[in-house]
Formats: sequence, C-alpha cells, structure tokens
Amino acid sequence: MVGRFAPSPTGAMHLGNARTALLAWLHTRAQGGRHLLRFEDLDTGRVRDWAYDTTRRDLSWLGLDWDAEYVQSRRLEHYAAALARLDTYPCTCTRREVLAAIEDSAGAPHGEEPVYPGTCRAGTAHPGRPAALRWRVPDRVVCARDARSGQELCQDLPREVGDFVLRRGDGVYAYHLAVVADDAEMGVTDVVRGADLWPATPRQVALQGALGYATPRYWHMPLMTDYRGERLAKRGGASPVSALREAGERPERVLGELARSLGWGVPGEVTAAELVEVYREWAF
Ligand code: GLU
Ligand code: ZN
Repeated sequence: MVGRFAPSPTGAMHLGNARTALLAWLHTRAQGGRHLLRFEDLDTGRVRDWAYDTTRRDLSWLGLDWDAEYVQSRRLEHYAAALARLDTYPCTCTRREVLAAIEDSAGAPHGEEPVYPGTCRAGTAHPGRPAALRWRVPDRVVCARDARSGQELCQDLPREVGDFVLRRGDGVYAYHLAVVADDAEMGVTDVVRGADLWPATPRQVALQGALGYATPRYWHMPLMTDYRGERLAKRGGASPVSALREAGERPERVLGELARSLGWGVPGEVTAAELVEVYREWAF
C-alpha cells in the first residue's frame, strides 16, 4: 500500500490542511504502507518559496513523517511524456470567449466549470495567440467510486466535462494530468484527500483509463469549516499551523483538537502514533 499527502506550497498550512495531512498519514500507517510527500507546485505564480520548508516543519512537528519526497516542478518531463500519449489539440480561446460561445449555443453553463464547446476542435480560432492544449475526451460516461462514502459519481465526458485543458497557454501542466501521472508512476494505491476534489475525480479516472494506468482507491475526507460553516482557506486568513508551532503550542494538543473535530473521542493531548488505532476503527 502506498499513500501520499500532496500539498500546494502556496502559503502556510492551516488546521484544515493539517487535518487532511493527518488523515492521509494515518491511512498509510494504519495499513503499514509507504507514505509520500509531494509538493504540487506547477502553478508557479501562486507558489511561495518559503512554503516548502514551513510545510515540512509543520508536518514533522505534528509527527507526520514520510518515506520519500517529490516536487512536481522537477518532474516536467514525466508530464510531457504523458501528454504526448493523449489526443490533444491547441486551443486559443480566452475564458470570456468560451463563456460567450456557450451562451450562443447551449445556454448558460451549469456546474462550476463551463463545458468547453469545442470551438478549436477543427483548428484554432485565433492563430498567433499562445495555445493551451485540450484533451479530446472520449465519448463515454466515466464513473469514480469513493471508498469512504461508498458513493459513485458518473459523468458524461463530452456533455458534462468537455475537452479540458492539460497544458495552459503559458506552458503550465494542468493539475489533473500531473496528479494522474504522478500517482501512477509513484505506485500510489490509496488517495486520501479533501472532499473538494471529489467532483474532479471522474476526469482523473478518465485520464488513467486513456493512459493505461490503474485507478487508485479514493477516500475523500470532509473539509474543516469555521464556526460559520465556511471552508478554511489560506487566503481567508485561517490561522496557520506554523504560528501555533512558533508560539510554543504543544503538537499533541493540536492533534487532539483535530481528532475531536472529526468526532473522535480522544483525551486533550494525543500523539499521531496513538491516533493510528482510532483511525482504524473510524475508517475501516
Ligand atoms: N495539491 C492539491 C491540493 O492542495 C491536492 C491534490 C490531491 O490530493 O490529489 O489541494
Ligand atoms: Zn478554443
């Protein structure tokens, strides 16, 4: 069994990130697996140089160790190789043009991401502009299964997802491509991550199918919310773990809080190792 925690080094980890890191670590250790730390730093404009080290320190302080570390920005040749095996085409549409084309044809976009109407399928509409590469999605319905909830999520690729971007116009590889290539090449068997990524899981399963990769087991975990029920966000000023660490807080107390926020009955202070047994009963 191989598990991983895959943070984006775009800022300081907050308690919600720490809880996801804890759950991923517990999941691996509860099964005696190998645990990876993977920095997802392809979107260079959002990366903060100090965030790598702060994340490593926060994890170590909490007692969440890892057996190997990877950095996506040093693995670009892997994403280029995966991309070359897929049927893609250049697209020069701006976001505004995509939205306008949708309104002209099928009506307003539904869901979070607009479904690309295929404007550039037969040739780019605006030669001369930097082109993104879109995947010509297969005409089929793809389903993802979540091991934690038992839920299945099926999406009709051309109608509900559309041809999505695998490399942006500025050359940045899309998260979906990188995560699928990495999980496969690193032998990840169990993906434990935040529930915000569940709606995107079918398109990752579709990429795995097209690239001949195995699909890992997925465990989507509830996101931590604040007292208003809103998701913690790095940009929203959620209190960073590093601030607690630097203020002399005890990691066992923070772990206790995280565990209780999941409804686990644990004492005020608890170690990561002590939580492994609790996780086994909660998750399996
Ligand atoms: N890097 C992603 C994030 O920070 C997580 C990706 C994943 O776990 O698949 O939200
Ligand atoms: Zn286009």
